[in-house]
Amino acid sequence: MSQVDELYELQEIELTILKNRKRLGEIKAELEQNEAVQQARAGVETAQKTLSPLQTKARNLDLEIQSALEKAKTTEENLYSGSVKNPKELQDMQQEIVSLKKRHSDLETQLLETMFAVEEAEATLGESQTALDMITAQWQTEHQSLLEEQSELENHTRHLLESRRKVMADIPADALKLYESMKPRKHNMPVARMEGSTCSVCGVSQNMSTEREVRSGRNITYCNNCGRILVAR
Ligand SMILES: [Zn+2]
Repeated sequence: MSQVDELYELQEIELTILKNRKRLGEIKAELEQNEAVQQARAGVETAQKTLSPLQTKARNLDLEIQSALEKAKTTEENLYSGSVKNPKELQDMQQEIVSLKKRHSDLETQLLETMFAVEEAEATLGESQTALDMITAQWQTEHQSLLEEQSELENHTRHLLESRRKVMADIPADALKLYESMKPRKHNMPVARMEGSTCSVCGVSQNMSTEREVRSGRNITYCNNCGRILVAR
């Protein structure tokens, strides 16, 4: 393998390492972000906060209804027991029964309205919970595939770093120094393939002598236009 071929191989390895590292950065950012799940969880919490006081209200109304019923029953029993003889007292008892029955009826209406609201809130909670379950499952699947991709990329990069070390060991120090010094100016691509007589990076055709020189592979030859090291491919 000529020096130029080795430099090209080194460049390909390094470009792939850069690409892998970029993707690994994206994966890391994506793994740290789960906005959709957080939003869905907030939806469930809101629905629970709506439902809970309505359920308490319904329970309290139910207790009040029981208590009004019992009180009316006790008063009625007293009224018809014959133990109370005083007309004023009897009249009061009758009035109390009427008032308790009215209260019972009002409470029943309130309870019915509250039960409707409870049902509605329960439905909303159910929907929110279903949405959260779906989003969580989806996130876990993505999470899983991202973790797999991450591990593959890390393995691949480790192998590439090993290959890089081996390739670099075979390249003469001065060629390596030249390559390194060109990297920042050439967007990490100091070496360009020559396809036919054309530089594949800048697209400019080389003159005959340059083309011949590149094909011989003996020396380092530069593109007439962009100044990259040309490799015949
Ligand atoms: Zn060029």
